[in-house]
Amino acid sequence: MSSIIQLLPDHVANQIAAGEVVQRPASVVKELLENSVDAGATDIKLIVKDAGKTLIQVIDNGKGMDVTDARLCFERHATSKIRHAEDLFALHTKGFRGEALASIAAIAHVELKTKQDQQELGTHIIIEGSKFVSQDVAVLPKGTSFSVKNLFFNIPARRNFLKSDTVEFRHIIDEFERVALAHPGISFVLYHNGSEMFNLPSSNQRQRIVGVFGARTNEKLVPVNESTEIVQVQGFIVKPEFAKKSRGEQFFFVNNRFIKSGYLHHAIMAAYEGLLKDGCQPGYFLYLDVPPNTIDINIHPTKTEIKFDDEHALYAILRSSVKHSLGQFNVAPVLDFERDANLDTPYDYERKEAVMPMVEVDRNFNPFADDKPAKSAFGTSGGSSAPVRQFRKQERMPAWESLYTGLTPATEEFEGTDFEEDEITGSLFNENEVEQAVQTTYQIHKKYIVSPIKSGMVIIDQKRAHQRILYEQFLKNITVQHGSSQQLLFPLVLHFNKTELDLIREMKSSLENTGFVFAEVNHDHIVVSGLPVNVSESEVSILLEELINDLQQEVPDSSFSQSDSIAKSMAKSLAIKTGTLLTEKEQENMVNSLFACKEPDVSPFNKPTFITVSVEDLDKRFAV
Ligand code: ADP
Ligand code: MG
Repeated sequence: MSSIIQLLPDHVANQIAAGEVVQRPASVVKELLENSVDAGATDIKLIVKDAGKTLIQVIDNGKGMDVTDARLCFERHATSKIRHAEDLFALHTKGFRGEALASIAAIAHVELKTKQDQQELGTHIIIEGSKFVSQDVAVLPKGTSFSVKNLFFNIPARRNFLKSDTVEFRHIIDEFERVALAHPGISFVLYHNGSEMFNLPSSNQRQRIVGVFGARTNEKLVPVNESTEIVQVQGFIVKPEFAKKSRGEQFFFVNNRFIKSGYLHHAIMAAYEGLLKDGCQPGYFLYLDVPPNTIDINIHPTKTEIKFDDEHALYAILRSSVKHSLGQFNVAPVLDFERDANLDTPYDYERKEAVMPMVEVDRNFNPFADDKPAKSAFGTSGGSSAPVRQFRKQERMPAWESLYTGLTPATEEFEGTDFEEDEITGSLFNENEVEQAVQTTYQIHKKYIVSPIKSGMVIIDQKRAHQRILYEQFLKNITVQHGSSQQLLFPLVLHFNKTELDLIREMKSSLENTGFVFAEVNHDHIVVSGLPVNVSESEVSILLEELINDLQQEVPDSSFSQSDSIAKSMAKSLAIKTGTLLTEKEQENMVNSLFACKEPDVSPFNKPTFITVSVEDLDKRFAV
């Protein structure tokens, strides 16, 4: 029998390896930035076009390569970083596998320009899909420039699999931030489609964090410092009162390498125990230094997970040092010696906050009374009888009744029903019964609203129901009919970083439709002078923060899905929570508003908003 095993040609092997190393443009960014760091660069520029789909270029002033290395670096397992197996246990570099450049060159058009300091002339190489196209000598500055164009040009399936530019660019920013935070001493610049997104001069850790996340971050940071035999911990944690709902700003760096570790994250959570509001996440930027021979970074192809020799000790040390810092901060918040006064950017409105009581807030405002935004847009909010009348009118609405008719068997019956129609169809309730049914709502465990219906009873999840109501209202405001706004006596100044501001600009007109009025959208802050009627001043910053976070997670492509995402996110932020006590009136309004919705049976996140229990069900249970 003849042998059937063959060695794969190199370019095929490289393409396969590329699948592991390069998942998306951001992977290329990570590899190129890390190579520049390893090359000892003090200045690194990242230039990106179309979220990296068209171009990713990294220019550094590092040590460069000679002609032989410039050619060799594209070979698989070509690395200058390890020579012996033992070197693996004393790594001080990011790379060591020698497969990144070979992989990237297999699936893109790559151009390399590089020159070492002592050389007169540099090397210019073009390589496409693993094939060398040209090699010349060239007049170049010291350092290296890699351009990676048309990523996945020869793997259409992978190219088609890429997400929208906004999503892919978000991933690029994530990688950029991680490398930039790990190396505050190196200056980094990021350009996207010709505009400068980040310009981070060489600085210390604190300034770097502030440079990446914006000036308002400075006041939130508390330093952490702990030196033990097995680990040195330093960095910053975010004061508990600034904890966010999202897991955005959580960074561990081990020996200047960004890593993910659920176990160490848990240590931080344990340190914050009792200090965070429900569902909130602490922010942290922690830099751990351990002897290289006590970790194994080899276990993950993209190298964000590592294994520690003594995880338990590390856990305990981390937890206690974070606890210590939190305690110190609670006792003497002023003793923050590392605070850099240059970073404090005082602005006028900061002081004006003292005048807060003068801000006009409609304390009588009832979020459930306003289930007809069209009306509130015209009407004055004052008249106390208005909401009642509106409510009475609604309680006879056919939508409500027909809905209750359909409840028992299945939800399909809702489909095609025009709930906004005015004609009364059913006569399931006579008027008195309606009145009675409406008034008998009960809230149980500050979580559910129970109400009798003809066939039995309906049990409504208050949070999900309110999400549905708000979602439809916001969606309508954004797409069809603008919501009204309440003017603020003192405009609010809110600080954001550049990427967040870009997102706000993108959403601006949709947000204005919901009732927001932006007096200014600046390079590092916005000025809000009006709010949607159902948003209070204290909710604005968390609302926008969550909105930005949600949109960054799942960035919509079309304008409809953008409206949809905004409406969903706002509904999620503003909906009353489980645990909120509702008055009978509010309960009734909730029930009515829910069943006046187009799709009352599910929350905007596709979870059931209510269930029904029929009298027969009850009878059966009692028949035992
Ligand atoms: P690794 O980083 O794992 O060694 P890479 O494929 O990323 O493998 O790079 C291969 C080699 O090319 C590196 O070991 C290094 O010697 C050289 N190299 C890559 N990028 C640069 C750069 N920006 N400046 C100088 N040398 C570089
Ligand atoms: Mg590398």
